[in-house]
Amino acid sequence: MSNVEVLSKLEEIVGKDFASNSPEELFIYSQDPGVSHPRPVDFVAMPETVEEVQQIVRIANEEKIPIIPMGGGMTLSGLVIPVKGGIVLDMKRMDKIIEINETSRYALVEAGVTSGQIISYLNEKYPDLRAPFPDAPPSITLAGNALIHGSGYLSQKYGDHGAMINGLEVVLANGEVLKVGSCAMSKYWFTRGPIPDLVGLFTSAFGTMGIVTKLSIKLFPKPKFRDIVIGLIKDLDTIPELVLNLTKTDIPEDLMVALAEKPDFMKGYAILMLYINGDTQEELASKTKILKKMYRKNKATFMKMPPKYYDIFLEQPQFAAKAADFRKGGGFEYVGSFMPLEKIPEAIEIARDISLKYGIVPTQVSRIIGRGHAVMFAASYSFNRADPEDMEKARKALHETNEMVLNLGGLPWKAELGGQKLMIEKMDPNYKMLLKTIRNIVDPNGIMNPGNWEV
Ligand SMILES: Cc1cc2nc3c(=O)[nH]c(=O)nc-3n(C[C@H](O)[C@H](O)[C@H](O)COP(=O)(O)OP(=O)(O)OC[C@H]3O[C@@H](n4cnc5c(N)ncnc54)[C@H](O)[C@@H]3O)c2cc1C
Repeated sequence: MSNVEVLSKLEEIVGKDFASNSPEELFIYSQDPGVSHPRPVDFVAMPETVEEVQQIVRIANEEKIPIIPMGGGMTLSGLVIPVKGGIVLDMKRMDKIIEINETSRYALVEAGVTSGQIISYLNEKYPDLRAPFPDAPPSITLAGNALIHGSGYLSQKYGDHGAMINGLEVVLANGEVLKVGSCAMSKYWFTRGPIPDLVGLFTSAFGTMGIVTKLSIKLFPKPKFRDIVIGLIKDLDTIPELVLNLTKTDIPEDLMVALAEKPDFMKGYAILMLYINGDTQEELASKTKILKKMYRKNKATFMKMPPKYYDIFLEQPQFAAKAADFRKGGGFEYVGSFMPLEKIPEAIEIARDISLKYGIVPTQVSRIIGRGHAVMFAASYSFNRADPEDMEKARKALHETNEMVLNLGGLPWKAELGGQKLMIEKMDPNYKMLLKTIRNIVDPNGIMNPGNWEV
């Protein structure tokens, strides 16, 4: 089929306004806000229904055209920039919130529903419930984030967002629709067990196993009040024990350790950002009292949050980056990683050295996941988008950080192609073999976001 014929098929399926191969429209899909080099895209299509996704996938499969599912396109690590050209499937028109189950506490949503959308929907209609979302711009999709094991303000207590998926509806490479989780046999999308858990086939797969069209995600009760209790840490080696002791109290909801030279009050310390909540102000006050005592016992110092930063740090999604020193150009990308708690002090030191080596202001955040079972350690590198040399420095810093993470026993998160390559090199041969076998069965023509996780 010629390009003209493919475009006309896509237009037939989604409508003329929602398919394109014109360079000015493809331009935006050929890059993302991170430091990845732009790569060419052949088509973009914006389906509105599962049937439209099926029809597009069938054409792509017959014609062996790569297909790249895209949510908000905000991972920063180039995951939705095609590696081998093809059709970017922009899911934003599939934006229905299908069901909120208040008793089993889940939301069933289409794959294009954004975090901004679910936040305002719940605030308006279900003010006692809240959804898991990251501290990312509100245009990101719940599906895109949960599918990459994202994390957010609920992750300290309840785990990463991949763990909060109850079930998925997926269009496979042959165009068939698959349901995984309890929805495979029940009208309730409330759990992924007790049956063989196939949800994991689609998480952190970066769209290589199928196109997710619906997802059920856990919701949580919403306490009335929230506050932040800041601690200053001088000796990085005390972090693992301090974190363990804090998680034992079951008080912190969200727990982060940040290192940044800006704003000024953060310079010279690791800052413990500990979020608490409760239904009364008295409850918050008594929790704060326990935490202050805990800080003293663990060589951390309580600090009252400077008022000018208070609202910024309590915003949800939090965008503390507003308080940081982003140089002219405004670009930044980070290596996120899942790291064992005991390796955090070393990771902080090495990432700081990497930043200084490339003339970048050191900025790192460690978010505790699941009461300390893992830490989402992120080393951020800012760059001037108008300066190719500066961008190259950031690329080198990111690469060295990936190496550091793997050397310390951690795993790069939402890794870009270079990071995926390093991980594949380290992977157990039987894991690789199984991954390859499953992929060949699920996608024999290799059309699903090819180039990613290529073993
Ligand atoms: C300022 C800033 C702060 C951030 N803070 C956080 C944070 O606190 N926590 C966090 O977790 N992340 C954070 N991020 C990273 C990132 O933005 C998020 O993880 C984001 O949620 C990714 O969602 P998305 O919709 O943009 O996904 P996309 O980038 O569109 O997609 C991510 C991956 O999932 C695949 N995918 C998307 N949709 C589908 C689908 N329907 N079917 C199959 N595969 C699909 C894509 O192919 C891609 O491989 C931050 C980013 C920025 C810019």
